[in-house]
Amino acid sequence: MRLSDLQVNISENKLVMSWYADDRHLQLSYTGSDALPGAADAALASCMLPAMLLGETLEVDDTFSISSTLRQNLNEFQRIFVSWFDDVQLIDIVIADNQFRQIPLTSSDAAVFFSGGVDASYSFFQLEPEIDHLIFCLGLDIQLHELARCQKALEGANKFAQHYGKNLIVIESNFRTAFNNLSARRCQIVLLITYSLALGLETLYVPASHDAKELEPFRSHPLTDPLLSNGATKVVHHGMISRVEKTISIAQSDQALAFLRVCNASDQFNCGECEKCLRTMATLAVIGKHSASLPPLDNVAKLRSVKIWTPGKYHMWHDIKHYAQLHRSEPIANAVSKLCRAYEWKQLFKQVKHQCRLLLDDILPRITK
Ligand SMILES: [Zn+2]
Repeated sequence: MRLSDLQVNISENKLVMSWYADDRHLQLSYTGSDALPGAADAALASCMLPAMLLGETLEVDDTFSISSTLRQNLNEFQRIFVSWFDDVQLIDIVIADNQFRQIPLTSSDAAVFFSGGVDASYSFFQLEPEIDHLIFCLGLDIQLHELARCQKALEGANKFAQHYGKNLIVIESNFRTAFNNLSARRCQIVLLITYSLALGLETLYVPASHDAKELEPFRSHPLTDPLLSNGATKVVHHGMISRVEKTISIAQSDQALAFLRVCNASDQFNCGECEKCLRTMATLAVIGKHSASLPPLDNVAKLRSVKIWTPGKYHMWHDIKHYAQLHRSEPIANAVSKLCRAYEWKQLFKQVKHQCRLLLDDILPRITK
């Protein structure tokens, strides 16, 4: 994959950086920022995961001037991702010696990603005094052609940023059009971090998706997020506590509750039916809080539809059970207990099935001899 013709232009009060990845024309526009000193790093690093998924060498033309720190970090990043995920390959990144440079530190600013979700809201409130910018991205989970959804999500982010006196930086990406054969969801967090390198911030906080005890190979991880630092911007994986604790913490803020966006399943966000919505609704119900952006959990029978399918989700529901017992919310504790028990049985059956298969593999050849 050859990256070429990197340009930064101004268009309708936005800074627009564009480049080619072979014949794909990639474009990122930034509102709320007046310079993109790390544009080349952002373009290169954001194409690394697509190149790893496609198994292609990454090359750059002479319009690129890359941070040597980033180049070194990307080797280690690749090694970890390849050991975790079967669908990515270790690739060569070819950069001529005269195309490396150290990025001068242009800013002492700090930013945190803000989607309106639980993780992002928690990190924001923990870090608020040192945060200068909230970064919000369109074109990945919310697609650019979904105009009403873009508008609604932007309005929420704008109001939140204004309320707390922070600058909102909006990044729009055409990744899904340019790489229409790749999963945007697969790349999303890595793209978001690498796009933000263009801004030349001193610190970029990435809200953690998992509690320290739930850590597993994942696209955003305390081992790999910092490896997207480029010597100018330090990437920090922030807030590895349980999602239930985060929800309880942000529920103290009316603003956070008003703009809470936990799922994208419906046009208006927060469908109120999916596992993620029900998990958040159950947590708020346990502590007697309500978000205007989520339906209340008026009937615990709704929880019967939840299926727990990963250890991470199990831990989250297990935490809800714990807090429901603590707050003497028996109907929720009992309903969640049933969900957890169903998952535990499923795991037990899986183990028994696996052990039986191993046993049969061992015994059958001896019987048939
Ligand atoms: Zn939902």
